[in-house]
Amino acid sequence: MSTTRHDLLQAFDALLQPARFKDYGPNGLQVEGRAQIRKIVSGVTASRALIEAAIQAQADAIFVHHGLFWRGQDGCVTGWMKQRLALLLAHDINLFAYHLPLDAHPELGNNAQLGLQLGLEATARFGEQELGFLGGRADGGGFANATVLAGHVKNGLNRPVVQVGREQKAIKNIAWCSGGAQGYFEAAIAAGADAFITGEISEPQAHYAREMDVAFIACGHHASERYGAPAVAAQVAAQLGLDHQFIDIDNPA
Ligand SMILES: [Zn+2]
Repeated sequence: MSTTRHDLLQAFDALLQPARFKDYGPNGLQVEGRAQIRKIVSGVTASRALIEAAIQAQADAIFVHHGLFWRGQDGCVTGWMKQRLALLLAHDINLFAYHLPLDAHPELGNNAQLGLQLGLEATARFGEQELGFLGGRADGGGFANATVLAGHVKNGLNRPVVQVGREQKAIKNIAWCSGGAQGYFEAAIAAGADAFITGEISEPQAHYAREMDVAFIACGHHASERYGAPAVAAQVAAQLGLDHQFIDIDNPA
């Protein structure tokens, strides 16, 4: 079975609705490759390692969360950009990238899938463009304190986490936003969260966590965004009768 580049783009757009978002880079087809698609490789970031692995896997299209082009770049095709583009163009591989639309999708997106991975269920959304998810444990329970929640996240994602604040009090309302969403912490506190889970922490959030007695759990940018791309690519591949393979390029950050 195969489809066309055009129909694949339509399928991704129909599912993720990129026009609804103000984003930091272009969503959709970032690099044009061959017209006929049989196999999609999904991954978190369009790194050289992922592109090389996709070539090995004989992919016709790569689907990622972090594409190649972002606002604020100098626009020059030099260094790592030249290397990545050269590989894509030489092998005629399409690169599809969806950033915020992939975070936000209510069932298949990074936040929804991170929640699933951690046994959390969202009952509300918060923050800019409603990207943040707010809810609690899907079984209705809570966590005794931040250390217990941090242990749960560490086990769920199989990696160390950074934990600050709320060491003595129970946690019921949990907010989360995948990736580098430390800037959503204050909105999470305002929305009533006892704990906030995201990929990264910056210096100010440690103080907010202690002063507001709200736990901050940083579980890794990559680790928090490993689940959306394969979920979306698998669904679209099934819909169009394509092969799909998720390739995880490990990243400690
Ligand atoms: Zn990200």
